[in-house]
Amino acid sequence: MISSADEKRVLDLVPTQLYIAGKWQDAEGGKKFAVQDPATSETLLEVADASYADGQKALAAAAEAQDSWSKTAPRERAEMLRRAFEKLLELSDEFAILMSLEMGKPFAEAKGELAYGAEFLRWFSEEAVRINGRYQTAPDGKNRLMVLKRPVGPALLITPWNFPLAMATRKIGPAIAAGCTSILKPAALTPLTSLLFAKVLEDVGVPAGVVNVIPTTSAGEVTSPIIKDSRLRKLSFTGSTPVGKMLLRDASEQVLRTSMELGGNAPFLVFEDADVDKAVDGAMLAKLRNMGEACTAANRFIVHESVAEEFSTKLAERFGALKVSRGVADGANIGPLIDQKSRQAVHALVEDAKAKGAKVLLGGEVPDGPGYFYPPTVLASVPESCEILSNEIFGPVAPICTFKTEDEAVAMANNTEYGLVAYAFTKDLNRGLRLAERLETGMFGLNTGLVSNPAGPFGGVKQSGLGREGSLEGIEEYLETVYVGIADPTA
Ligand code: NAP
Repeated sequence: MISSADEKRVLDLVPTQLYIAGKWQDAEGGKKFAVQDPATSETLLEVADASYADGQKALAAAAEAQDSWSKTAPRERAEMLRRAFEKLLELSDEFAILMSLEMGKPFAEAKGELAYGAEFLRWFSEEAVRINGRYQTAPDGKNRLMVLKRPVGPALLITPWNFPLAMATRKIGPAIAAGCTSILKPAALTPLTSLLFAKVLEDVGVPAGVVNVIPTTSAGEVTSPIIKDSRLRKLSFTGSTPVGKMLLRDASEQVLRTSMELGGNAPFLVFEDADVDKAVDGAMLAKLRNMGEACTAANRFIVHESVAEEFSTKLAERFGALKVSRGVADGANIGPLIDQKSRQAVHALVEDAKAKGAKVLLGGEVPDGPGYFYPPTVLASVPESCEILSNEIFGPVAPICTFKTEDEAVAMANNTEYGLVAYAFTKDLNRGLRLAERLETGMFGLNTGLVSNPAGPFGGVKQSGLGREGSLEGIEEYLETVYVGIADPTA
């Protein structure tokens, strides 16, 4: 059981100032902002609110530290990451309580994020010492070709509120491993986890200026001048597609290297030959992880008409058995949504579907009381014209529609400007492989509702983004390639 004394002890651990050039410091003019508990709307802590000038200080610190940091031994960088990984595990309850408090996710899920987030540090500690180049003879047997990898340089890392730790470690891990300095701008709704993580990095010996953390309520004012400054060499953003597009416009000024992890609209296909119980298990994970507030959340259940009723009934039964409560409460399965605006947006999608003829099997009403809770909701027979099928829901709502043929299912799945992840349940392996070739997606879960894994290349196609995080590809985002043409040394 997590007591209020536990909550207080964890909040007391969190530094509330900006972390720039290895120093904890107030924002210019002493500005602060409040961070709320979305389950109660009460203030958890106030933290320093970075201004344009603070952003510039952070950029100067990152730029100044870049040269010496890029010269550190890969093994040294690897061992720092390894120590940070171990420290996160030591503090796993503390981080999980903190994430649960500021973001709302159930404690058990927060522990899952801790394990997932920490793993990026271990993974990239292992990758830091495997940054390879190559040397080869040209096809005509004359010149030699050498290919070097070097750190791209100072990076601006902008993260969303839904995975406050993992989105930071997925960027800071490879940046540190590659030899890049960075400036982290966490979401204003959830800066506390990033600040505590910065403390961990400081404690394990990451040098001053290598990682700078600047929470702010003026995201555009602070980051736009940094993005346009030639000292910055890389932007890695995780967030919504509209904000990503805006940042890409800023980044075009100096043709900045960018990684963009944007929104999704994941289809979840259930074929007539699927094991329906396993598909329901997969749906629970794919839909309800983080209360549906995940870019990988199943957004459209596209189910063969012969199994649609069984799937919908079983899903509604499972959804109905979940405990909705504050994330730190015992046995919580579903916490609050992040804020009132998000809850209103989810409910508007449900109302639109209802008005257009969708059948409510469960939920669909905003509860009374404090916090931004929304009940697990299942909608069946959702007509194609409903907004909920084309918008990212970001809530615990499962809209179900049906198909007759595989071609129809693929066409429905691909009928979106997004392409982050797709899921399918079928016992036919050939069909599974055909889907892997035909679905317009960066990631595909075949008979599983969970694809996120630090060893897998995470990322999307179409308007879901550019680049990949994690896996072998993840470190490449922070490296540039230099080719050296060499005259034939034997001539
Ligand atoms: P968001 O509104 O786009 O915000 C993401 C980050 O961008 C936050 O730190 C935000 O700061 C910042 N930001 C907003 N406006 C900005 C501007 N003008 N200039 C610079 N930075 C700006 O997204 P969100 O609501 O936090 O997160 C949900 C979205 O993220 C969903 O669309 C989800 O699919 C996507 N997501 C994608 C992935 C992936 O890997 N593909 C993973 C997780 C989430 P403020 O907090 O101050 O607004």
